[in-house]
Amino acid sequence: RSSSSNNNNRPLPGFVQVRGAREHNLKNVTLDIPRDALVVFTGVSGSGKSSLAFGTLYAEAQRRYLESVSPYARRLFHQMPVPDVDDITGLPPAVALQQQRGSPTTRSSVGSVSTLSNSLRMLYSRAGDYPAGQQLLYAESFSPNTPEGACSECHGLGRVYQVTEASMVPDDTLTIRERAVAAWPTAWHGQNLRDILTTLGYDVDTPWRALPKKDRDWILFTDEQPTAPVYAGFTPGEVKEALKRRATPSYQGTFTGARKYVLQTFATTESASMKKRVARYMVSSPCPLCKGKRLRRESLSVTFAGLDIAEMGRLPLARLAALLRPHADGSAARNARAAALHPEKLIVTRRIAEDVVARLNVLEDLGLGYLALERSTPTLSPGELQRLRLATQVRSNLFGVVYVLDEPSAGLHPADTEALLTALAQLKASGNSLFVVEHALDVIAHADWIVDVGPAAGEAGGHVLYSGPPAGLEQVEASQTRRYLFAKDKPALRQPRQPTDWLRLEGVTRNNLHRLDCAFPLGVLTGVTGVSGSGKSSLVSQVLVELVAAALGHELEAGPDQGEGEGAGEALEQAAQTPLEGRIVQGLAGIKRLVRVDQRPIGRTPRSNLATYTGLFDHVRQLFAATDTARARRYDAGRFSFNVAKGRCEHCAGEGFVMVELLFLPSVYAPCPTCGGARYNANTLEVRYQDKNIAEVLALNVDAAARFFAHESAVARSLEMLREVGLGYLRLGQPATELSGGEAQRIKLATELQRAARGNMLYVLDEPSTGLHPADVDKLVVQLDRLVEAGNTVIVVEHTMRIVAACDWVIDIGPEAGEAGGKIVACGPPRQLARASGSRSAPYLARFFD
Ligand code: ADP
Ligand code: ADP
Ligand code: ZN
Ligand code: ZN
Repeated sequence: RSSSSNNNNRPLPGFVQVRGAREHNLKNVTLDIPRDALVVFTGVSGSGKSSLAFGTLYAEAQRRYLESVSPYARRLFHQMPVPDVDDITGLPPAVALQQQRGSPTTRSSVGSVSTLSNSLRMLYSRAGDYPAGQQLLYAESFSPNTPEGACSECHGLGRVYQVTEASMVPDDTLTIRERAVAAWPTAWHGQNLRDILTTLGYDVDTPWRALPKKDRDWILFTDEQPTAPVYAGFTPGEVKEALKRRATPSYQGTFTGARKYVLQTFATTESASMKKRVARYMVSSPCPLCKGKRLRRESLSVTFAGLDIAEMGRLPLARLAALLRPHADGSAARNARAAALHPEKLIVTRRIAEDVVARLNVLEDLGLGYLALERSTPTLSPGELQRLRLATQVRSNLFGVVYVLDEPSAGLHPADTEALLTALAQLKASGNSLFVVEHALDVIAHADWIVDVGPAAGEAGGHVLYSGPPAGLEQVEASQTRRYLFAKDKPALRQPRQPTDWLRLEGVTRNNLHRLDCAFPLGVLTGVTGVSGSGKSSLVSQVLVELVAAALGHELEAGPDQGEGEGAGEALEQAAQTPLEGRIVQGLAGIKRLVRVDQRPIGRTPRSNLATYTGLFDHVRQLFAATDTARARRYDAGRFSFNVAKGRCEHCAGEGFVMVELLFLPSVYAPCPTCGGARYNANTLEVRYQDKNIAEVLALNVDAAARFFAHESAVARSLEMLREVGLGYLRLGQPATELSGGEAQRIKLATELQRAARGNMLYVLDEPSTGLHPADVDKLVVQLDRLVEAGNTVIVVEHTMRIVAACDWVIDIGPEAGEAGGKIVACGPPRQLARASGSRSAPYLARFFD
């Protein structure tokens, strides 16, 4: 225990005092944490860092804040989660900058999140160059999201969506019966439409292209919705007969033209997969009126430094800053001339430019100078989004608050970490406290104070091993962090393996990559490095994945990962707009299947969990169905699913909790009053396998379940893989929504490992070290090596040099971000790359080879 721990209850000035914290796995911990300091929470993944920093400190600060501002909210507190802690004193108000679990669902952009767009609108409104005779416009007129600003043709979307005969009927040699109108719904609804056409006298057995144009146009484009008698299962001849006889039809059906169906479904469906399906039949093109700039003509006629506001929104932030700097410091030529004519315009220009440039400087410092204001947030990585929010806070002039951050180094190259530390130092210098959950050793080394949680994950963690200045941690034997921070443990390095072949890509063009040629070795572990924004994801997670998927005929799974809501819609629109440029010229024969192991959630609702995702729950349900009680009662395996009506608690529909809607506040969840969170009805819970019912099994963690199911090989195998990737501490029924990105990724990895070794698979991982302590990173490398040993190819995008050093081959992209990047700077085995000149990664990699 640290010397500064203070176990009596006298408040220490300048400290936050936590007494008896028991949230999640925390073991009744008591500690003092300094204010006005950079405090870093360390420990292996699952040890309880977030439970302490977010689950306890932030949650309590939030609760107190709500209590102080809203008497209405107070009444609802008995339903709101109250952190399990005896007492906290000295806690300032808190602002959380947490990584989004899953993609944000709102339609926002870099400009709106940073509020820089507002400032630019003000600049154009008040100080822009107007064509002679044009009235001044209000700031709102420069926003595509307002009626004053939006282009009248595309309503501010910048693109127009159309359906054409070619888009809805991709193969015109087919007949209607053979589903020539591919855009129509499938299954029953599609048959229904075909039957109606038969009744209406259309020929459904002639190839589409041989039908009269008048008929084709009506079927596709009519807005009429006639109702007609349907004779299901009749041939066209029999239908004619039946109509003549006025026979009683099977039912009356309503016709919908294909265009109407597609547009209506796209606009109204809540299902992401439906939306995706119909989107395939739409063609979008830039709006002919605004040319994709989203604004009306009057707004676009106003310029600043010769650019309209849409053009300015497309500049990388670094270029925008360079453009505005002369206006901020008064050196711009425009000033001299303008000063005489419009002195007030000059003052406005200078004030706004100063503010915008100062804020852009922070964004540049945080390594985000390559972004543009118009970039939509769903296309940003979680790390980029968090740094964007951080930059916004640095300029917000708040003081006396505690910022709670979740791994701010995620997505950052070690070369960029310096700037992150500067931004944190600025927040601290303005009189704020920083509580940071972090794994990157460069950040930990700069802490004023370390709180090390452990020693292991889940039940085996939850103790505060150390709380004090960094140097003192060196003496704490139980700490895993100590081994890496002080001993500088080097990973065991082996001879690089030889590739079996090369996967060669040519002419890759995407984002900042232009006609790039690139070769990935097969049968080995490859690391792709480069500063944030250099083009790693564009090359690997986008083009490589898309090219290989297309060549293998895989659909890129949208799955539950892609999620619902506007974020998905936007990502989808984005994907539809992005042409796939590049080709594979060698090596495809060495790849049978492509697997992306990413950090997207394994599901978006609490109905998914690791047991359902890995498939082990299917076996468990069969074991329950095979018990004597279940057989006597004729309960089948479906009875033990909380997604099926017969076995689950009906009050909460198997969710285990109910949502309480709060006016003006985010809704909160409360345990279901009927089942108390068990998710099943009482009859189902009477069935026991060994001594546990199904709810009790879901409550087991992976380690305990491995003992419980030791003799059931199918279940035991899945559980063993989960333990090997370091997830022994997760509960089987832990909802997908509670899992971090790193946990989701490791569940996917375990699911892949439990499949029999097949060889010739290509695994692609984007920053697998996110959320992982160096000790977990070492475990991960062992698993990746196993995949390679089994005859597969593994490609990882990584910033953690500990992983890169353990690769067989490294490809370094850069040299810088955005348009100053996008080239292959160097490639080779890590030892060789560590000496490459001009590579930003080389100096950091070299530390492992001296
Ligand atoms: P860390 O931040 O160190 O990775 P966490 O604080 O997230 O660890 O997790 C500590 C333990 O608490 C783990 O066993 C984890 O599974 C559990 N846990 C995390 N979030 C929740 C939650 N919302 N409900 C229940 N248990 C949770
Ligand atoms: P890295 O993975 O190395 O951080 P990225 O491949 O994500 O880099 O980004 C490379 C460049 O492409 C950056 O300038 C980035 O802003 C741009 N970029 C990435 N994704 C998109 C996108 N969806 N839309 C527009 N620009 C993008
Ligand atoms: Zn338009
Ligand atoms: Zn219930």
